[in-house]
Amino acid sequence: MYAMRAILRARPVLKRAAAATAASAAATAFAFGPEAICEKLTFKLVEDKTTPLDLEIQQRFLAMDQGDKVQAEYVWIGGHNELRCKTKTLMRAPLDVDELPVWNYDGSSTDQAPGTDSEVLLVPRAMYKDPFRAGPSGTSKNIIVLCDCYKPDPDAPMGVGEAIPTNTRVKCAKIMDAVKAHEPWFGIEQEYTLFEPDGVTPYGWPVGGYPSRPQGPYYCSIGQENAYGRPVVEAHYRACLYAGINISGINGEVMPGQWEYQVGPCTGIDSPDQLIISRYLLIRVCEQFGVVVSFDPKPIPGDWNGAGCHTNVSTKAMRAPDGYSIIVKAMDRLGAPGKQDEHIKAYDISGGEDNKRRLTGAHETAPITKFSWGVANRGCSVRIPRMTEKDKCGYFEDRRPASNMDPYVVTGKIMETCVLPDA
Ligand code: ADP
Ligand code: MN
Ligand code: MN
Ligand code: MN
Repeated sequence: MYAMRAILRARPVLKRAAAATAASAAATAFAFGPEAICEKLTFKLVEDKTTPLDLEIQQRFLAMDQGDKVQAEYVWIGGHNELRCKTKTLMRAPLDVDELPVWNYDGSSTDQAPGTDSEVLLVPRAMYKDPFRAGPSGTSKNIIVLCDCYKPDPDAPMGVGEAIPTNTRVKCAKIMDAVKAHEPWFGIEQEYTLFEPDGVTPYGWPVGGYPSRPQGPYYCSIGQENAYGRPVVEAHYRACLYAGINISGINGEVMPGQWEYQVGPCTGIDSPDQLIISRYLLIRVCEQFGVVVSFDPKPIPGDWNGAGCHTNVSTKAMRAPDGYSIIVKAMDRLGAPGKQDEHIKAYDISGGEDNKRRLTGAHETAPITKFSWGVANRGCSVRIPRMTEKDKCGYFEDRRPASNMDPYVVTGKIMETCVLPDA
């Protein structure tokens, strides 16, 4: 932190950056964890002249033949919602995720276990092609393995004991199993903001200042003066397609340097699983370009749009003729006493605190205090698309989830409120 403050002092014009520092530290908390981010950003700041490592040289080695062996990148969620990973060499390519070995890591290094009993088990849940190790012809068998985390128990089957407290996937999987017959689909719109490695300057913004023009020209924009960071967006889009993520689109956002991609529709637990891996791919792509991605819901205070994770939802009945009445029933359930508070608590990673900065009633949001729904209204908590009203079937869009939300918690909570009573 010392180096960061020193730099802020040295530049008196850094009013915006100073205000943004706290938000930005929380912002990137998703990616790195609250303590780690300060260290990481400070490190980047002091190491301004770090020698860039030439990715073309790395490429010479990535192009080499690797024989039959397969690199499996195990990915999991650490103690502060950050993503972690480590690689295991497999003797051959697995045909199914069930063939992958349970592995372990040092949970005391991620705040998920005491040093005296540090092992946490990684149970493989889904696998995807690894775009970072695609090989010279893009056909390598290297994989990314999404895992969730458990305590070891020598007496349990396979030695896998109960889930550790940060494992939100287990509860989500139970709910998705219970509502399976309703065939829930989710389409999640992930918004995010690119930053310079200093962690306070949104990518494309002047250091210590603001863009010369307010919001307006940037949304879905083109041109050097409007669209900041497209190479990251394009690279991530292809990385997702290669991996097998059901990415359905991308667009530039209202705040310059902010972008969105959508994952879905995906069925049940596949939705949060894919969203987690899509975030993993984005952070890795940004790492290669030397920029930082923030999932903070309001990275820059003031008259700049925040970042959300609009969650589009439907069930088989909602998609069928006269599904509109089922959607309205879901609205009644979301609007029942106590439900707004319960959902807001579940819609960011800090029990609703982060969303207080975003859900103000301005900038295409509804106030955090009250549930509302409407057709084609982007100032409501939930929007029903015009086409859904017209067709009398379709889906609804919950606009409240923040960009840093836990997709297992959000999709699970929506099912719990809207569908579980009928299951
Ligand atoms: P917006 O108009 O709010 O910007 P987007 O086009 O960005 O919406 O995202 C809508 C998302 O909803 C997409 O991922 C899309 O695949 C998904 N979607 C479409 N139909 C359904 C449905 N019936 N159920 C759930 N999600 C859906
Ligand atoms: Mn969208
Ligand atoms: Mn958007
Ligand atoms: Mn939307």
